Amino acid sequence: QRKRANDYVHEVYELVKQRNSNETEFLQATREIFDSLRPVFAQHPEYIRDGILERITEPDRTISFRVAWEDDQGKVHVNRGFRVQFNSDLGPYKGGLRFHPSVNNSIMKFLAFEQIFKNALTGQPIGAGKGGADFDPKGKSDREIMRFTQSFMTELHKYIGPDEDVPAGDIGVGRREIGYMFGHYNRLNGGYEAGVLTGKHPDSGGSLGRTEATGYGLVYFVDEMLREHELSFQDSRVVVSGSGNVSTYAMEKAMELGSTVIACSDSGGYIYDETGIDLDVVKQIKEVDKKRIYEYLKYYPEATYVEDCSKIWELPCDIALPCATQNELDEESAKALVANGVKAVGEGANMPSSIEAIQYFQKKGVLFAPAKAANAGGVAVSAMEMSQNSMRLSWTTEEVDERLHGVMKNIYDSCTNAANQYGEPGNLVMGANIAGFLKVANAMLTHGIH
Ligand code: GLU
Repeated sequence: QRKRANDYVHEVYELVKQRNSNETEFLQATREIFDSLRPVFAQHPEYIRDGILERITEPDRTISFRVAWEDDQGKVHVNRGFRVQFNSDLGPYKGGLRFHPSVNNSIMKFLAFEQIFKNALTGQPIGAGKGGADFDPKGKSDREIMRFTQSFMTELHKYIGPDEDVPAGDIGVGRREIGYMFGHYNRLNGGYEAGVLTGKHPDSGGSLGRTEATGYGLVYFVDEMLREHELSFQDSRVVVSGSGNVSTYAMEKAMELGSTVIACSDSGGYIYDETGIDLDVVKQIKEVDKKRIYEYLKYYPEATYVEDCSKIWELPCDIALPCATQNELDEESAKALVANGVKAVGEGANMPSSIEAIQYFQKKGVLFAPAKAANAGGVAVSAMEMSQNSMRLSWTTEEVDERLHGVMKNIYDSCTNAANQYGEPGNLVMGANIAGFLKVANAMLTHGIH
């Protein structure tokens, strides 16, 4: 049975490689899942019989479209928009929209694929998708952002709806962008569909606590992991990459739990202050002024700025939280972190660590919280936003936070239990992949071959 399972996984992986030969990020994400699932197939021949792995690695559909828009000078630009609707066996497609010049088919597909397992782990009735555009919001005026998002939604609106597909934000898409897209969807649709997008402003049906959810959820998850090993955030030094939504609220919660956050970054570089970063200043620079993290020196000339964000992992710390983007932490960075005594790593971004980096952490006994479990708090509160929209009522911040805390604890327990059950106690990468997979695979079994 074990040999049959290994052959099956190998065979399907070869097929996926052939079919998606240029899609490096997608292949990286699938390889990690495939490696984790071998013991599952050895115990469940019905998954092999029903071709679950072949089916779960091919999206239901991928939509790609032209987004034409006019800048403030009247020049016309064309970008490419995407929506990958990957799997809907647990509920409507659900996942963010990313606006970043690096967006392409491979990035969209890896993100949507990760979302399958992440969304399943939340225990909420949501399927998986991801979308976005290769548009660079950096340096664009507010009106340019509005025109772009409207043009984007003019096409996307045909494919989404509160029971079909519910997008939200991701890199480059926050409350402002969601607001413009929500307004445009409702005009095109001719009605008010509160549940078509999540991450909305609380004044127009958004859930309280959604903005903080990914960062807070990450820290709740890592806290569970630390506790199990008699460690804690209290008095620890924390390095957090990024300075967007995930990073900001991870820093906030880590500080609340008594740690000192000594560094954060943006794509231009990182700031470092061993006495602790002033989060109000970071929020002012990134959320209000929408400037570069370099500006921090204007407020704190004694802080250090290093013009290479990848070097942030060379700082000595107890806990590292990569919250910027995919593959920001490679094997070399992992070695530097371990050499400097890191005890735990929690992924806030999607797939921030390379496979080699993860293997290195595991080999060296560093506690490792994988993204699809540790950063699921954002989409979990998105699902809560959908519930509130359906019921036409809203929960308080405290209520949302309590539910979020409960979801993150449950995810941690599911991952731990799956890792124990399949013979690798403490391996949360495997635990997350298996626990998420089992949920979707079982639903797929009941829905027949499609
Ligand atoms: N983009 C976020 C993620 O990766 C949130 C998705 C959502 O809220 O739908 O999970």
